[in-house]
Amino acid sequence: MSSPAAAGRLFLVPTPIGNLEDVTLRALRVLKEADLVLCEDTRRAAILFARYDIHTPRESFFDHNQAQRTPMVLERLRQGQKVALISEAGTPGISDPGFYLARAAIEAGLPVEALPGACAAVVALVGSGLPSDRFAFEGFLPAKKGRRTRLEQLKDDTRTLVFYEGPHRMIRTVTDLLAHLGDRRAAWGRELTKVHEEYQRGRLSDLLKTLQERPPRGEFTLVVEGLPKRRGARHEDLSEDD
Ligand code: SAM
Repeated sequence: MSSPAAAGRLFLVPTPIGNLEDVTLRALRVLKEADLVLCEDTRRAAILFARYDIHTPRESFFDHNQAQRTPMVLERLRQGQKVALISEAGTPGISDPGFYLARAAIEAGLPVEALPGACAAVVALVGSGLPSDRFAFEGFLPAKKGRRTRLEQLKDDTRTLVFYEGPHRMIRTVTDLLAHLGDRRAAWGRELTKVHEEYQRGRLSDLLKTLQERPPRGEFTLVVEGLPKRRGARHEDLSEDD
C-alpha cells in the first residue's frame, strides 16, 4: 500500500468560459505537468490545449461515466500520479462534474487541490451591479418537478440570487421569477467574456420584454436582487441590521 506521502494529487482546474485568455499561469502549468487530464468535453479541451501547447494525455470524464471512472482515477492517485479535472468551461463542480470525484478522493484520504479561476456566476454577479456582499448560487432551476417549490423557497431570501439558464428556457424562467418574486431589479449577462458579451440591467419585466422582442441566443447567467429587508428599503440599506 502506498504511504500518504507518495500519493498523487487531484487538481480541479478552471478553464475559460469564452475568452481563451481567462486561464491562470498556474492552471496552465498544472495541466502541462499532470500525468492525466480528465475532460468533460475532450473537443473543447483540444482547443485550449492547442492554444497553450499542452500535450498531456486526455480522457473523458462526465456525469454519465464518472461513477464508472472514479475507481481508476483513485488508483492512479494512489500510485502517485497527478490528475487534473477540467469541465467544459469554467470551474469544475459548479453545475459541472467535479463534486463527485472530489468527494471520492477526499473520502479515500487523497490530496485534492482546487485552483481559482473563471466562473460565469461570479462574473455575472459582479457585472450585474446588484449587491454582492451576500448571494446565493442557485444554478439551474429544476425544469419540472420541484420548480414551483424552489421558487417559493427563494421568495423570502434576502440574498442576491444567481441562476444559470439555457437560451431556450430564458423566457420561461424570467416569467416564473417575475410571477413568484415580483418585479425586482435584475440583470442578465450573455456570452460573457466573448466577443458579443452583453448585459441587460433593469427590472425583471424589462428583461422579459427584451427577451420576447429578441429571441435569446447564446449563454445566459441571470442575477436577481434578494427580498429587500424592509418594505421600501433602498439597496444601500441592505447591509444594515434591522
Ligand atoms: N462550470 C461553469 C462555470 O463555472 O461557470 C458553468 C457550467 S454550466 C453547465 C453552463 C451554464 O453556465 C450556461 O448554461 C450559462 O447559464 C452559464 N454560462 C457559462 N458560460 C457563460 C458565459 N460565457 N456567459 C454567460 N453565462 C455563461
